[in-house]
Amino acid sequence: MKIVIAGGGFGGLRLARKLNNKRGVEVLLVDRFNYHQFQPLFYQVATAGLDASNISFPLRKVFQKSTNVRLRMADIYRVEPEQKKLVTDIGDISYDKLVIATGAGTNFFGNKELETHAFSMKSTVEALQIRHRLMENLEQATVEKDPQEIERLMNIAVVGGGPTGVELSGALAEMKNYVLPKDYPELDFSKMTIYLLEGSGKLLGAMSEKSSVQATGYLNRLGVTVRTNTQVASYDGKTLTNKDGSQIQTATVLWAAGIKGHVPEGITKVETVRGNRLPVNQFNLLEPYQDIYAIGDVASMVTTEYPHGHPQVAPVAIQQADNLASNLLAELAGKPTHAFSYRDKGSMATVGRNLAVVDMPKPKLHFGGFLAWLVWMALHLMLILGVKNRLFVFLNWVYNYVTYDQSLRLIFREFHRPSDEQPPVLQARKFMEGEKV
Ligand SMILES: Cc1cc2nc3c(=O)[nH]c(=O)nc-3n(C[C@H](O)[C@H](O)[C@H](O)COP(=O)(O)OP(=O)(O)OC[C@H]3O[C@@H](n4cnc5c(N)ncnc54)[C@H](O)[C@@H]3O)c2cc1C
Repeated sequence: MKIVIAGGGFGGLRLARKLNNKRGVEVLLVDRFNYHQFQPLFYQVATAGLDASNISFPLRKVFQKSTNVRLRMADIYRVEPEQKKLVTDIGDISYDKLVIATGAGTNFFGNKELETHAFSMKSTVEALQIRHRLMENLEQATVEKDPQEIERLMNIAVVGGGPTGVELSGALAEMKNYVLPKDYPELDFSKMTIYLLEGSGKLLGAMSEKSSVQATGYLNRLGVTVRTNTQVASYDGKTLTNKDGSQIQTATVLWAAGIKGHVPEGITKVETVRGNRLPVNQFNLLEPYQDIYAIGDVASMVTTEYPHGHPQVAPVAIQQADNLASNLLAELAGKPTHAFSYRDKGSMATVGRNLAVVDMPKPKLHFGGFLAWLVWMALHLMLILGVKNRLFVFLNWVYNYVTYDQSLRLIFREFHRPSDEQPPVLQARKFMEGEKV
């Protein structure tokens, strides 16, 4: 059985590992990158706390000793279900069974202006771009004469009060409090404001009320200006305008307010559901197709407990991969298959040093502060792929903790030719989406 896995993220990689060296299956893992990205720590790359290579792991290294898993670095354009093939930039790839594990990308909800000027953080490259932009703005501020322009260059607006927005704004506030004044003595950091804008009435909407309140308190303590019930209407690269008419002058808007499934073209027999996700049955099968499955962020499995599909988090992708791997092997062996059931082990978010919040479902428990922060760190260290990466991340954290400093505030300049018509941010995004620029 030739199984093609589209996407080597949390779900796709886990599935390939579970099928590794198993008899009767030949696996081809296809991803546009040749490395796995550990998305939960993107925000630390963006804020110069970690090097990009510490959270990326070469996919080929995982399967060096594999007898049946092969890899292709390719951009998937579309599926042709009748021909049982994937069309990619390196040619067609045929399959017996296809597993779509292409995850999700940023959702700007059709706002082209925001898409052009705001930064998103759905890949290592984008996290690095944020870092460059932050540093370049500060460099520019040191030579700028107009006080209003200096403030605009220093201000940052993070949009979206979910875990990513909370973690990002907390880390930015710590940079502002501990690191940047030492690097830029000529700038007055009391003029720098970090905004966190959230459309609903509270932060961390998917977590408990206690976590939401506690995280808001932590952010206030760090000096983040939190504005709930605030929806962004537009951003022209200089001025951010909210739907209530209020405005923020900022050269940096970081968008963490929505995601949409990365669905390859050609799936014509199925209509996507909320969040551009593919509706799958309890076995992750994309009915009425009999040979196409979807797992992780791109899949939506409706159950009584999860009427809008499971949360788009790594454990769901990993557990769906585990269940699908054992079902595919069971099918080959003529054994019964099992419906997917999600074991929710809880959720957490970190805000800064010694500050995090944790919610556990069974027993129902909430805790915050130093203990939660330790748990958050231990869990993330365990999940990072590769002993070397784990070690480097740990050492970095210890170094940052002891010195109140990070050492990665490097600017690798974007190469922007005068003839380029589009700003680098848009070019990079198009590149991420597979378009040649
Ligand atoms: C900033 C950030 C922080 C997060 N923090 C947490 C957290 O703390 N805890 C948590 O549980 N979850 C977190 N998540 C969510 C978590 O990362 C996702 O739920 C998880 O990655 C989903 O796994 P997946 O396999 O479905 O997709 P992904 O892991 O996103 O993998 C999709 C893969 O498909 C590839 N791909 C997509 N389209 C194509 C194409 N056309 N051609 C070729 N390849 C393609 C991509 O390159 C990628 O490797 C975070 C996400 C982000 C963005």
